[in-house]
Amino acid sequence: ALDRDAILAWLALAADRLEAEKANLSELDRPIGDGDHGVNMARGFAAVRAKLAAEQPADPAAVLKAAAMVLLSTVGGASGPLYATLLLQAAGKATGKPSLSTADWADCLAAGLAGIVQRGKAAVGDKTMVDALDPAVRALDARRDQPLAAALAASAEAAREGMAATVPLVARKGRASYLGERSAGHQDPGATSSHLLLQALAETAA
Ligand code: ADP
Ligand code: MG
Ligand code: MG
Repeated sequence: ALDRDAILAWLALAADRLEAEKANLSELDRPIGDGDHGVNMARGFAAVRAKLAAEQPADPAAVLKAAAMVLLSTVGGASGPLYATLLLQAAGKATGKPSLSTADWADCLAAGLAGIVQRGKAAVGDKTMVDALDPAVRALDARRDQPLAAALAASAEAAREGMAATVPLVARKGRASYLGERSAGHQDPGATSSHLLLQALAETAA
């Protein structure tokens, strides 16, 4: 199950991966955005890791909530408030639980995605992070009774497929939507960071 230490390990690994993928994520954001997604995410998660190392929140909900607050204050782009919403809504579902089962995490991620959709109004197919997160939520929901490691691996794989499927799409939300048809043929940076985050979680629990 995902206890406090597992969530801390996830966010620390995510910070490492985002730093390693910083140039690549910003490169994806260049042709269809403003070229800052990797910088935004690496900065935000480095701050998350520093804050969590200093504070050591008591349980999964407290960790997720603290991380959300840091993202809100350190990531200026569209992605900051959206990922903050995901973590905050997930924290709401985790409240009172010392550790999260597969079914608990399925509820957390579903609530997180619902928060992103409510805030950003993107639907599946609009070429955003929702295109990676929605299949991941579905994959988890279909595996609520399975062991955590297997379910998280399946959700990361679903996110990877959703990410890859953004390439031909025309963007209908965010900066990339300003390009209209010219946004087709590029992988969405936010879908890519969403896959990276869920892949890091799967590795943490493996
Ligand atoms: P900005 O576009 O402000 O520079 P980032 O580059 O950090 O912000 O993030 C861009 C990513 O944010 C996009 O690739 C997309 O996945 C995501 N995004 C943008 N707008 C929305 C939205 N309304 N709903 C969901 N995701 C969005
Ligand atoms: Mg950008
Ligand atoms: Mg920007």
